[in-house]
Parts: sequence; C-alpha cells; structure tokens
Amino acid sequence: MTPEAAYQWLAQHSRETAYYESMGQLLGWDQRTQIPIKGHAHRHNQFAMLAKWMHSRATDPRVGEHLAGVEGAELVRDPNSTAAVNVREWRRDYDRALKIPEDLAVALAKATAEGETAWEQARPDNDWAAFKPFLARIVSLKRAEAQALGYAGEPYDAHLDLFEPGETAAGLAPLLAQVREALVKILEAINASGRRPSSEVVRRHFPVAGQERFGRLVAQRLGYDFDAGRLDPTAHPFSVEIGPGDVRITTRYDEHNFSQAFFSTLHEAGHALYGQGLPEEHWGTPRGAPVSLGIHESQSRLWENLVGRSLGFWRYFYPQAQAAFPALREVPLEVFHGAVNEVRPSLIRTEADEVTYNLHILLRFELERPLMGGDLQVEDLPGAWNDRMAAYLGLRPSDYAQGVMQDVHWAAGLFGYFPTYTLGNLYAAQFYARAEADLGSLEEKFAAGDFAPLLTWLRAKIHSQGNRLWARPLVKEVTGEDLTPRFLVTYLQRKFGALYGF
Ligand code: ZN
Repeated sequence: MTPEAAYQWLAQHSRETAYYESMGQLLGWDQRTQIPIKGHAHRHNQFAMLAKWMHSRATDPRVGEHLAGVEGAELVRDPNSTAAVNVREWRRDYDRALKIPEDLAVALAKATAEGETAWEQARPDNDWAAFKPFLARIVSLKRAEAQALGYAGEPYDAHLDLFEPGETAAGLAPLLAQVREALVKILEAINASGRRPSSEVVRRHFPVAGQERFGRLVAQRLGYDFDAGRLDPTAHPFSVEIGPGDVRITTRYDEHNFSQAFFSTLHEAGHALYGQGLPEEHWGTPRGAPVSLGIHESQSRLWENLVGRSLGFWRYFYPQAQAAFPALREVPLEVFHGAVNEVRPSLIRTEADEVTYNLHILLRFELERPLMGGDLQVEDLPGAWNDRMAAYLGLRPSDYAQGVMQDVHWAAGLFGYFPTYTLGNLYAAQFYARAEADLGSLEEKFAAGDFAPLLTWLRAKIHSQGNRLWARPLVKEVTGEDLTPRFLVTYLQRKFGALYGF
C-alpha cells in the first residue's frame, strides 16, 4: 500500500470514529437537558456500547500498520501540512490507547461511574465518610493509569498531558506561582481600598423569560449562529460540538441572580463560537478539532470576562438590559458595571470572581500533584484543602460540601483537568492583548456594538487553525511571545485598580 493510500484509510477511520463520538455527544446533550428520569439506566447501557466500539476502533492493529506505512513518507515531511498534523495526533491517540490494559480501562470506567453517583448522593448530606472509599479507589486506579501511560517527569504529567498536550507539572508550577503572587497582592489592595462595588443590584428580581430573551439577544449579537445551535436550560451549564452546523449551549437560571445565567450563557457561547469556527472541511480529523481544553477555555473566558464584563460592552448593551428589566431602570451604568465585577473571596470555585478564581485552581493543582505522586493520601485531603483555603482566601470551609467535595471532577476521575481553567485565563488575556494591538481599542468597538472585528480575528488566528499547533506553539505564533502571566496580571491590575481605586 502506498503512503497516500494508508493516509486515506486512516482519514476514513478517523471520520467514522468521529461520527460515533458525535452520536455520543448527542446522547450526552439529551441526558443533561431532556431525558425522562426513568431513561437513565438505558442511557448508561447505550454509552457502554459506544465505549466498547470506540475502544476497539482506537486499538485496531490496522491503525498501527497504516501509521507505520505513512510515517517518514514525503506526504508528512512538512510538520505544518494537514497530513502531518493528522498523523501526529493519530499516533498519539493510538499509542495512548494501547498502553491502557483493557481490565484497567474497564475498572476505571466502572469506578468513575460509581464515584459520580456516590458524590451526587453524599454531597448534599455532607457525607465525606460515605464518599471517601469511592474516591480512594479512583485515586489508586488513576495512579495505576499514570504508571501504564508513562510520563515525562512525574505521574501527574500523564493526566495533564491528556487535556493539555505537552504540558508538564514542572513547566506549569512556576507560571502558576507567579500568578498566585500577583493575585494575592491584588486581593490585598482590594481589601485595603475603601471602595466597595456591591452586587446587590444584580441580585434583584429578574424574571426567567426576560433573562432567556436577553441572553439570546446578546449571544446572537456576538456572532453565535442560532441556525447552527440552540440554547437550553440545564443544571450544570455546558456547550457541545455535535458536528458541523450543530454546536449547542446551555445555561442555568436563577430569578434572583442576573449574573449566573447571563455570564454562563456568554461563557458557553464563547466555547460555541470556537466550535462554530472550526474548519468544516477537516471535520472528523485532528486538523479540524480544537487544540486542548485550555485553548477552548481561553475562548469562553475571553467572551465571558474580557468582553462581557468590560465597560465598553455594557455601554452598548446596558440600555437594552434596562429596557428588559425594571429592576435596573434606576441603576446607573457604573453601579451595574461594578456589580458584575464585585470581588469577594468565597468558598465555591464556580461562583468566584476574576481575581480569586485562579486561587481556587492553584489550590487544586497543589493537591492533585502530590495525590497522584503518592505523597498525599485521600484521608488527608480535607485538612490540606482547608489549610490552603485559609492561606489563599482567608476562609475556612465549615463543611465538606463547600470544601473538598464541591466539584464533580475528582469523582469523575478528572485529575489534571483543573489547571486548564487557569491556562485558559492566561491564554485569553494574551490573545486579547494581541488582538487589541492589531485592531485598536476593542472597548470602543464594543461600545458601538461592533463585535465582528474581534470574532473575525479569532476565527483567522485560532478557530480555523484546528489542532494544527499545540497550545504553547499556537500562543507563540499568534502573539509572537511565549506564554506569560504578564498579560492576565496587567489586565486584572488595570481593571480592578480602576474599580477599587488602587
Ligand atoms: Zn468552560
């Protein structure tokens, strides 16, 4: 077989696998928005069936044979070519799939399914003792998985690398330490300042129907295509790329909290703008896929925070918000803008503001690393968690539900996932600064309702590139500079310095 024929076989295999994956995405969307309560058991069986197909496709020995037939050929000599990018990622996926013994894969799938259910039941009761054995089982399997996969420097790297290819704990730690140092200083300045923007005005009464209408209006204005997507309510907001022409978002409404649904909608619309901008002609192959969770998160955080919490953005949208919500009629723009940017250390990550959010992530990174390395045990987690919360945010959780048990990630076996949130914030600030250098003041454009230049820039530089480059090389190519915390720190200092007067 010629290298070209081997490549065509692999491309076809990849696209067929992507169809199975997209069926799984649709099943997942349905499960989280529409499914009747009695349908869950059957849905679990459907997922198990799909997982079995996917595993056999991922480890098909013909993939290995065809990869060997194309690697080293002229076709993949230019690392930037579509063929080389695809072969690079197919090799990575194939090697990874082969390294996990089937009994470990099955044990992990079972332990994490049970872990999630145990977490759902134990968390409302604050029952750490009931959840602990499930988590201990998952941690021991994840440690075994790291050994099976192999790693660059330490076991945690094996997990991190799945979500953020090429990233290592040792490479990340100094970046995150710089972020922590700068954030703690900003927080001290905020605490010392006399100014107190209050979120009271966004916690008034906001009827759900009005929130939904306003969220749709804004998402559409930013460029989200409702003919290629939809917005539905759910318990935990998410977005999903089902395929070309079908990238959906969800949000969660609280009629006494404007910010919750609105910024979740913007966040998920940011993810979806990326999904809608991926190159359709490469769908089903790595060249048409997103880079990593961190780059995905950079797009959501950029639209949610750098755009959606800016004064320019609200200069344009605030009159429409006032028309939609009587609760805001008498509230001046500056007061409202302060309210959606209130900084207040809290126990819960998902409710954190832009300044304290990354401290929540750091805490998790600093616990996950020794947990995977074997230097921290599950029974010592709650104490270690509470000590760090006290040190970074000055708060000590009074129960497990608001402390170590607040996130679903560990119960679902997702170790190495949290750092991608902070990476997303760093990438977002660095991309945004570059876009502004290229396009001129973005807030002036937002104030005139002009969001297209930013989206067009993101489409050209990031979305249309698919997974051509991994995250760090992409940042370097787009911004001309290696990833640095400088842009996020400067952005936060400027913005909150102005709001809090320091
Ligand atoms: Zn996100």
